[in-house]
Amino acid sequence: MMGVSRNSIWAAVGKASRGVRRVIFRRGAIVVGIILVLALTIGLSLYLGYLSALPVPFIDELEDVASIHRLLVVAPHCDDETLSSGGLIQEVLTRGGQVRVVLVTNGDGSFTGTMVEFRKLYPSVRDYLQAGSSRQQESLNAMQSLGVPAEDVIFLSYPDRGTPPLWERFWDDANPYRSPFTRLTQSPYVRTYNPQSVYSGHSLLSDLRSILDDFQPDTVVAPHPNDDHPDHWASGAFTALAVATQERQTRPRLLLYLVHRGAYPLPRGYLPFAPLLPPLELVNSTCTWGKVTLPDEFVEQKGHAIELYKSQLPLLGSFLRSFVRHNELFCELDPPPVPRLVPDQDVTPVPGLWQSVDGSEVVPLVEDSRRDTVPQEVGPGGDFVALYAARSGAKLWISAEMRGKPSRLIAYSCLLRVANDREASSTRVLYPPRVGTRPPHEAQDNFVLMRFNLEALGYPPSVVVSCDTRYPRGPTIDRIGWAMVNLD
Ligand SMILES: [Zn+2]
Repeated sequence: MMGVSRNSIWAAVGKASRGVRRVIFRRGAIVVGIILVLALTIGLSLYLGYLSALPVPFIDELEDVASIHRLLVVAPHCDDETLSSGGLIQEVLTRGGQVRVVLVTNGDGSFTGTMVEFRKLYPSVRDYLQAGSSRQQESLNAMQSLGVPAEDVIFLSYPDRGTPPLWERFWDDANPYRSPFTRLTQSPYVRTYNPQSVYSGHSLLSDLRSILDDFQPDTVVAPHPNDDHPDHWASGAFTALAVATQERQTRPRLLLYLVHRGAYPLPRGYLPFAPLLPPLELVNSTCTWGKVTLPDEFVEQKGHAIELYKSQLPLLGSFLRSFVRHNELFCELDPPPVPRLVPDQDVTPVPGLWQSVDGSEVVPLVEDSRRDTVPQEVGPGGDFVALYAARSGAKLWISAEMRGKPSRLIAYSCLLRVANDREASSTRVLYPPRVGTRPPHEAQDNFVLMRFNLEALGYPPSVVVSCDTRYPRGPTIDRIGWAMVNLD
């Protein structure tokens, strides 16, 4: 009896341990699977980042640099002004021109940067604000070293990482954005261009417009719409909209610069003799790149200026020093006039089928790089290739060309911001996924069509359009940060 019991106990123990082993083995397999998927995703991301930063072999000189006499540099954070334009600033000043620099944010929302600077696991509100104040001082020091006096350095003091929400959702002063870092809805900094401004899109646009009206620049330098950093593309969008409000005759030239994109600039590090070249992916028919070649003393001076952003050097030193090169790079947009369509035609999503009044072929308003990220790689229906625009009567048509067939599981969204004298307003059009229904007629082949009412927007002379694709309540797949649409 005892023996039988003992055997059955041991049998039960053996069975249980086999069960435990199976569970452990299954869990192990799941963990290994997750690690493999993560490793593949990270590997693919790095590879795509490297590919998207691969430079073109050659680039022409930027045209008419000598005609720049009043230069306005718009920088999202305290250091972008020097990285992008430290050489151009010296070039303009040496010729007797004037330079004004606008910092949109004080860079007071860097969790890791503030963590390292203050040696704290959880930086406090005070730490973030102190980081913002010291970054302002670093910009003043760097600009002074390049010959720009403190009175020509303007701090708008909008929240770091907050400019995309201002552009997309927090437009009205009555509904300001609250920074998750400083927990404020208005600038507390002594150095603030307009201390009355709240964190709203309307306020930011008003500040930029009043600076343009006051300084009357002939050239404005701002971030490229394909910059990966959210504050960069959004600061570019606000600047483009502010520039669009200027009279056509006196509208400044808009030059765009790139700071963050995959592994750009390639190669990385302090290599003053290596050329700074744009990524092949961003060389297309809708934006023309040009370089500004710098003499030795400008390069050296730019290098010194970069060393003055002391708070940024411990984490980003090698990246910042990558911009100390013998040239700087700018891209100039040349948006085609938006064609008028023959009235009463059935406007389909395919721009190749649009009939314009003057019979001209419809060319892209903006071209977009492909396969930049893992979500774009695996979701070709969410990967933008180009945007097209046309108008007929009071309607503005925007067609987005995708790399693959539009998917019902992806939300397609475009936002129009209007530059008229009174107020900016927006319209958002979605192509929402409706499982079990036929796709809406707005999609055909690889195109998604969106329609806007110009009458409701007050027939503006120009608009700025931003588009994105995302999985509903999920991550963004691709984005066209902004594009200018000239309607006059
Ligand atoms: Zn930046």
